[in-house]
Amino acid sequence: MVVARGVRKSYGAHEVIKGVDLEVAPGEVLCLLGPSGSGKSTFLRCINHLEQIDAGWISVDGELVGYREHRGRLYELRDAEIARRRSEIGMVFQQFNLFPHLSVLENLMQAPLRVRREAAGPVRERSLALLDRVGLADKAGAYPRQLSGGQQQRVAIARALAMQPKLMLFDEPTSALDPELVGEVLDVMRGLADDGMTMVVVTHEIGFAREVADTVAFLDGGVVVEAGPPSQVFDAPQHERTRAFLARVL
Ligand code: ATP
Ligand code: MG
Repeated sequence: MVVARGVRKSYGAHEVIKGVDLEVAPGEVLCLLGPSGSGKSTFLRCINHLEQIDAGWISVDGELVGYREHRGRLYELRDAEIARRRSEIGMVFQQFNLFPHLSVLENLMQAPLRVRREAAGPVRERSLALLDRVGLADKAGAYPRQLSGGQQQRVAIARALAMQPKLMLFDEPTSALDPELVGEVLDVMRGLADDGMTMVVVTHEIGFAREVADTVAFLDGGVVVEAGPPSQVFDAPQHERTRAFLARVL
């Protein structure tokens, strides 16, 4: 579903992604771990072309996300085509970024109606079903400020799902939450994974990664130091940098 090859990304003279190769098969979950500044968010943003990359390529479901290839060179796509491809990738951030002036249901319906120009009836039905799925059927008419952080983040996940994405990206979705609200969000994510959604998740929740991830990749200094099944990376890390990081977070 996702293939990244030789991805490099610099901000000015500062190279923050230094040749990353990663793959996520359909229905699999990749968890990205690593210290602050290691490039996790940047790499995630490259996947849906919120950042341009300087070398290498990333494809999602067989399509380059922000570029087209012509005679071995990549050319950036036009904005409308970038937007179409990006709309097939859901993203959930640490900050929930809900539309404060819209109800929960309207938050979910906004993009399908405005971006895809779908008919309101089916979008409404789908949105209500999604709210039910994240345990918030009774909050359809509420406004974001009336919800807890955990509820808002579950709405944000449902909103992303309303676009029927083929891939979901999560950037530390529970880092801004009070500890007692983390579990309800991880439960929703676990359910999504069980239903076969392909996911890339930046997280420091080792328990979640151990249980849900098919592959864990440890990033440091813009390179994948090691990647493998959770049992391997967590229980038998091969690199000193991975061991040092795990000793800090476990
Ligand atoms: P954290 O765990 O703190 O979220 P991260 O692994 O997500 O860290 P990134 O946010 O990807 O790290 O940042 C990687 C590096 O790129 C950092 O040194 C950061 O300062 C730098 N960086 C990120 N975004 C920009 C930007 N827009 N302009 C310049 N430098 C940036
Ligand atoms: Mg980050």
